[in-house]
Amino acid sequence: MVRLVNKARTCALHGAGKVRRWFNHTARRDHVVRRLRRRRGECVRCGACCKLLFKCPLLVERPDGTTACRIHGNRPGNCRVFPMDENDLGDRDHLMPELPCGYYFVEADDAPPTEAAAAD
Ligand code: SF4
Repeated sequence: MVRLVNKARTCALHGAGKVRRWFNHTARRDHVVRRLRRRRGECVRCGACCKLLFKCPLLVERPDGTTACRIHGNRPGNCRVFPMDENDLGDRDHLMPELPCGYYFVEADDAPPTEAAAAD
C-alpha cells in the first residue's frame, strides 16, 4: 500500500512538472527566457529528464551509461528548455538523486545569459 501511494505521489509530481513546463514554454516565453538566463553548466546525458512520468521512446541508453535522443536536433521545446529552474531540477533529482544534473542555477535574475541559454 505504501509503495502504491509513493508511486502515485511520484506520478503526480512528475505529471505536474510536465504540465508546468508545457504551460511555461507555450504561454510564458518571457518567463522561460528569464529562467534560462540563470542557468549554467551543461548536460551530462544522464537521461533523468527523459524518464519523468514515462520513459521517452526516443531515448537511447548506451552501455557506458550515457544517453542520447534519437531526434535531438528536432526535439520538442519542453525538452530544449529543461531544466528551466530549480523546480525542474527537483523533479529529476527525485528520480535520480545519486547523479546530479549537469545544469545548475545562479541567483541573479538579471545574470547575463550563457551562450547555450541564449540559443535556447
Ligand atoms: S537531467 Fe540534466 S544532465 Fe541529465 S539528461 Fe537531463 S538536462 Fe542532461
